[in-house]
Amino acid sequence: RAKDAGRNTYQFHDVAQFERVQRRIRIERQLRGALERGEFSLAYQPAVSLRDGRVLGIEALLRWRPAGGLRCGPDEFVPIAEETGEIVRIGDWVLAEACRQARAWDRAGLRFGHLAVNASAVQMRDPQFAARVIALCAEAGWPTERLELEITESSMMIDSEALRSGLALLESHGVRLAVDDFGTGFSNLQYLHRFPVSHLKIDRAFTWSMLEDPAVAELTQAIVTLGHALGLRVVGEGVETEAMAELLRGQGCDEAQGYLYARPLSADALTAWLRERG
Ligand code: C2E
Ligand code: MG
Ligand code: MG
Ligand code: MG
Repeated sequence: RAKDAGRNTYQFHDVAQFERVQRRIRIERQLRGALERGEFSLAYQPAVSLRDGRVLGIEALLRWRPAGGLRCGPDEFVPIAEETGEIVRIGDWVLAEACRQARAWDRAGLRFGHLAVNASAVQMRDPQFAARVIALCAEAGWPTERLELEITESSMMIDSEALRSGLALLESHGVRLAVDDFGTGFSNLQYLHRFPVSHLKIDRAFTWSMLEDPAVAELTQAIVTLGHALGLRVVGEGVETEAMAELLRGQGCDEAQGYLYARPLSADALTAWLRERG
């Protein structure tokens, strides 16, 4: 009996694994040509000042609606697009589209500070990336001084000359860098003073558990203190309740982003949100 149960468990495990692989293959196949078929769109989420509630930035978040009804979020498809290299072309599209939208908001007289765009480690590794960012901004008529690239710690662990000169080029054009999901990656922090970083974004997993777990609250306090010691601004991600905002504010955290203020919204919905606040 025990043996049977064991075998069943094993078989179930096998099926689950098989289904995971099937899904991956399906996503990979459907990603091919998705850009040309116009299956991507962007959602936008504001970041606000914890001091006075002002909108300080808007982050563009990639959405994918493949024909055939597959539902798949960026946490799942971006890593696959990174593996296939597809993320480079998709990332260029994100940047161009986000800049175009940001310019439209700006022209409509809406105030929102910076436009933030996520860039993956694979994009950062491309030696032409920085030059393309600047060219895409110029084409879209969006000032590089109002662009922020959100990158993860792992991007900055590649200590290559190409990355260094790319980041220097971005810096010379006033592009800001934010470290996304801060605290979840590597613990070597040398890159913080080696590269022109201006913002740290505290990962949402910390924001969620800091209320229940004093050790996590100590950790977020340490991140805020570290950030300020280095002259950086600190952003709390995934703020869903007033209690979370209050705790972060008390720790001196500068900015917050999360469902408490706004979910990621369509461009039209964010236009209405900005108008209402403005
Ligand atoms: P991220 O850059 O850390 O983005 C924050 C994620 O948290 C977003 O998930 C957002 O929808 C979600 N979020 C924001 N506030 C709250 C909240 O209060 N509660 C909860 N439960 N969630 C909240 P999303 O849109 O699914 O994106 C996931 C990740 O995919 C992003 O994490 C980013 O790493 C990646 N990603 C998204 N768009 C792009 C893109 O254009 N390029 C690249 N390379 N990666 C992207
Ligand atoms: Mg981000
Ligand atoms: Mg994040
Ligand atoms: Mg993330």
